[in-house]
Amino acid sequence: MTNTALIKARDLSKHYTVSTGRFGAKGVLKAVDAVDIDVHEGETLGLVGESGCGKTTLGRLILRLIEASGGSIEFAGVDLTALPQRLVKPYRKDIQFIFQDPYASLNPRMTVGTAIRRNLDIHGIGQRRERPDRVASVLRQVGLMPEHAGRYPHEFSGGQRQRIAIARALATEPRLIIADEPTSALDVSIQAQILELLQGLKEKLGLTLMFISHDMGVVRQIADRVAVMYLGKIVEIGSKEAFFAKPLHPYSVALRGSVPVPDPRNRETVPPLEGEVPSPLSPPSGCRFHPRCTHRMPRCRDKTPHLRPSGERDVACFLY
Ligand code: SF4
Repeated sequence: MTNTALIKARDLSKHYTVSTGRFGAKGVLKAVDAVDIDVHEGETLGLVGESGCGKTTLGRLILRLIEASGGSIEFAGVDLTALPQRLVKPYRKDIQFIFQDPYASLNPRMTVGTAIRRNLDIHGIGQRRERPDRVASVLRQVGLMPEHAGRYPHEFSGGQRQRIAIARALATEPRLIIADEPTSALDVSIQAQILELLQGLKEKLGLTLMFISHDMGVVRQIADRVAVMYLGKIVEIGSKEAFFAKPLHPYSVALRGSVPVPDPRNRETVPPLEGEVPSPLSPPSGCRFHPRCTHRMPRCRDKTPHLRPSGERDVACFLY
């Protein structure tokens, strides 16, 4: 792992104009709002937060599956947001996405081998006649057999289907894989196998991983650094060790408190988060977390805290 940024996003935003009711009223939904984030070469960055906080949108923006409303995304020093789509294509093979639900992301009428080979065809990787060998090789890498190439997705278990999705992503020899809740639909024992597989592949192939999850236990297992997202903004980012030893942002403290501790004597009493994540359509003023924060001060309602260094990490909170 290095401190060289493979991805450098600056002031990155995704805003949607949406209808807010009858009479044609419109509002702006700020799914991702002025985010600065680096993903270092060779690391696993865990991106955490409750559902609806913008994690998936941020991952899709980085891949340019959706277009940003503003800001920039550099990949290995190249500003992808400044390029037209046709010039982004060569970089797409370098950044691959693994979806939460492998069954939905695999075409049920397409054999596994065809689905993987299609990714090679799209990116023009290797000679045509070599592609079946490449398919067999990636299937082996994820613990499946070359014979599985002729079968259809419904013939596999959930864990095997996620292995197929990983094989399809690996086929293009990417430098970065963005995995969006890749284990949340799986049983705990299968989850552990998929995490182990991703960890092993990352080390063996020198991959960089961005791992999106709401499950702090999973992130603790796999991440090198942790970024916490709340209502479209990053509120804390730093090393996993520092984060799990002592999270700083009050939202991070509450998320950290949700991780089960095996020994009850070491269990901390962290009050659970109150209420739901407010709508990104009308986010609270000032610090977006203030309606749920037990430490809020008068200025938290009016002023927006920005990420600032605090020890080994950056945190967006007036307490630091
Ligand atoms: Fe709480 Fe204020 Fe910090 Fe926001 S800025 S997390 S409201 S203390």
